[in-house]
Amino acid sequence: MAILQDFRNNVKPNWCPGCGDYAVQGALQKAAVELGLEPNELAIVCGIGCSGRFSGYIYAYGMHTTHGRALPFAQGLKLANPKLNVIACGGDGDGMAIGLGHTFHAIRRNVNITYVLMDNHVYGLTKGQTSPRSDLGFKTKTTPRGNIETPVDTLEMAMAAGATFVAQGFSLQMQELTDLIVAAVKHPGFSLVNVFSPCVTFNKVNTYDWFKEKLVDISNMKEYDNRDKDAVLKCMREHEGLLTGLLYEDVQKPSYEKISGLEENNQMQSVKKLAPDVFEKLVQDFY
Ligand code: SF4
Ligand code: MG
Repeated sequence: MAILQDFRNNVKPNWCPGCGDYAVQGALQKAAVELGLEPNELAIVCGIGCSGRFSGYIYAYGMHTTHGRALPFAQGLKLANPKLNVIACGGDGDGMAIGLGHTFHAIRRNVNITYVLMDNHVYGLTKGQTSPRSDLGFKTKTTPRGNIETPVDTLEMAMAAGATFVAQGFSLQMQELTDLIVAAVKHPGFSLVNVFSPCVTFNKVNTYDWFKEKLVDISNMKEYDNRDKDAVLKCMREHEGLLTGLLYEDVQKPSYEKISGLEENNQMQSVKKLAPDVFEKLVQDFY
């Protein structure tokens, strides 16, 4: 059985010291061990951004795709190889701006994959511009007088798209985050794990301390029922989305694979492999 070391490679992340993404990487590797996976049973698919580098830092199958396009790739991968555990990773710039259309439709389609979205309310890789998740009034070089655009509400967007699994974690709570990723991978449909993963270099407002002070853990709410959609939405609004935990789960809605019949009859599995020379001939036009 694989241990933590088996999901590590010798590539040193070039994230800034203190970046929240380190903890997400650790939680994801820990979750893979807790799930009893082997590296060849896991695929990490990323978009572009600081968190887009994820796939290079974990020993498993890794795909670094184009900006905002990790989810279409991840869904195709899962449908072609249902045995693979597919986790897409990206940031708020990647998934909530250029990739928002893909995010919304992937959620409503409900293919059995997990999306770990690292939300730091800023574009980090391109050196600190306002993102679709930046707070109103947030000042950057693209908004020197403060952001005037209402931030995308990730949780409510996911609920509106018909999400079947919505969780939210925080980089400072690594074991809780690990548990959320484990539950997300086990969920038989699309699972969203939004993680507040602070950018220590370009966001001096939404810091570790800021989140620590604001976030409310739903496990401290006695009456919270994560199967009651109306109540969940009400709670999300009351706390302006600053909640952590497994916020919502719908275990009734079937996955895309189930409803399409692919689960029983996956034709992709019967596609014959091309002979190497035929494959070579087909792709030579692209050289
Ligand atoms: Fe992390 Fe921000 Fe540095 Fe990117 S720029 S590695 S998000 S701290
Ligand atoms: Mg970001």
